[in-house]
Amino acid sequence: MIEELGDLFAGPGAGEYLGEPVTIGVHMRQAGALAEAAGAPEALVAAALLHDIGHLHDAGPSGASALADTVDARHGERGANWLSGWFPDAVTEPVRLHVAAKRYLCAIEPGYYARLSDESKRTLAVQGGPMSAGDVRRFERGTFATDAVAVRRWDDQAKEPSVAPPEFGHFAPLLARLLTARLTGQNEPGGTAR
Ligand code: FE
Repeated sequence: MIEELGDLFAGPGAGEYLGEPVTIGVHMRQAGALAEAAGAPEALVAAALLHDIGHLHDAGPSGASALADTVDARHGERGANWLSGWFPDAVTEPVRLHVAAKRYLCAIEPGYYARLSDESKRTLAVQGGPMSAGDVRRFERGTFATDAVAVRRWDDQAKEPSVAPPEFGHFAPLLARLLTARLTGQNEPGGTAR
């Protein structure tokens, strides 16, 4: 599994992240590095690192082909579903919810929308726009809401062309520990308390 993830970062991950100044692999590795620098638990670092894996998995020879699909509002869902065969909920659920977290932050945080990249603003519309008050309440009740918001903030910051993030291999031991924990049944309760 880790080899397969490495191949995705090296192959389709080297493709352009449509409309952003970094490749998608660099973007994801920057997000993982930001989570690590913030002292996040390992599962949350993995979630940040893998949050856009749905853009790369099944993306074909060029990741850009899937990204070019302007209505790809479900990449969080697809990525989480694929990862759930190997990783615990504490990794997969923030990945699943990182698009919802953008819609949530647009609804509750003044100035958040204005700080989004142009591409993130553009995709917001096809992702459903800012959440309604009812959706906000439902989102906040979710176990992984806080973690999803954290991943979202690293996601938003991880578009810096001047920052060279660690290679994928830097994160491989951390991913291996999470796989092992899952295989040996040490499933974490998950979800950082609000
Ligand atoms: Fe992203």
